[in-house]
Amino acid sequence: MSAVSLSGKDFAVEIRSEVQARVGRLLEFGVEPRLSVVVATDDGGSAWYVRSIARAAEKVGIACDIVDLGADATTDALKAQISELGRDPSVHGIILQTPLPPGVQTSELVGLIDVYKDVDGANPTTLGLLMAGVPTFPPATAEAVVALLEHHEVPLEGREVAVVGRSTVVGKPLAHLLLDRNATVTVCHSRTKNLAKVTSRADVVVAAVGRAELLGAEHVRPGAVVVDVGTNPTEDGGLVGDVNAGEVGAVAGALTPVPGGVGPVTTALLLRHTVHSAEK
Ligand code: NAP
Repeated sequence: MSAVSLSGKDFAVEIRSEVQARVGRLLEFGVEPRLSVVVATDDGGSAWYVRSIARAAEKVGIACDIVDLGADATTDALKAQISELGRDPSVHGIILQTPLPPGVQTSELVGLIDVYKDVDGANPTTLGLLMAGVPTFPPATAEAVVALLEHHEVPLEGREVAVVGRSTVVGKPLAHLLLDRNATVTVCHSRTKNLAKVTSRADVVVAAVGRAELLGAEHVRPGAVVVDVGTNPTEDGGLVGDVNAGEVGAVAGALTPVPGGVGPVTTALLLRHTVHSAEK
């Protein structure tokens, strides 16, 4: 069997053209949507990701500022910057890029991101609103997984979904979004006993682990749909997912590619959130 590739590229183009049209209408009203990405690292992977957001933003007419405080930024400097962006009426979206400098805790900063500008759903208040079913910005990667599955018409209602990974940015909010679609969700993590036994029962498996090619053929039942959120850098400057695409592609019914699957949809949704915030 050879899995169907559930690409995110064309879907991302669709989202970006919708966003571009909405930006055009805002510009007619004299509003220029603006996204600020706060950076405090010299990590190469992070720099690549931030540049890709900036390029995508500029293509649809969203101004994107990379606010780089340097890899030795202090908690106080980051707090002051995030608060200032929250007060700045010309800024509609704020992203706090990780990793942060050693000793700086994400949990001390995310609560300062203005909820109305929290386009990547990082503030605990935003996450609470999500859990309570109040309209808000879900973390873009978690939303991208569900949006990509729906785009490819993968049914979720009543299906068993195994999510591998329980981070606050991907696994946990994703479990909630899937429950909202009436899926039966199992969340796995590093202490899960016999991971393959759990995941190979599922109709849909989502890998959001950060371990290159962790999931092999034994983790997937024949015909299952597999979403690979992983973006692990390779020595030759490429990217590899959390799924062994060769092995799993031979067993699964469908598989998202890396790159070109969840990633482009995530970026497009960040832009959609920013334009939504500017419209308000
Ligand atoms: P994270 O915060 O490091 O969380 C990883 C999760 O995987 C944890 O819950 C951890 O369990 C679990 N885990 C680790 N080893 C495991 C194992 N051997 N078996 C089962 N579970 C295991 O990572 P993240 O931020 O969620 O990111 C996950 C991946 O998604 C990374 O590759 C990241 O680069 C990628 N990502 C992609 C996008 C995109 O747009 N495509 C966006 C964000 C992240 P414990 O909780 O027990 O430690």
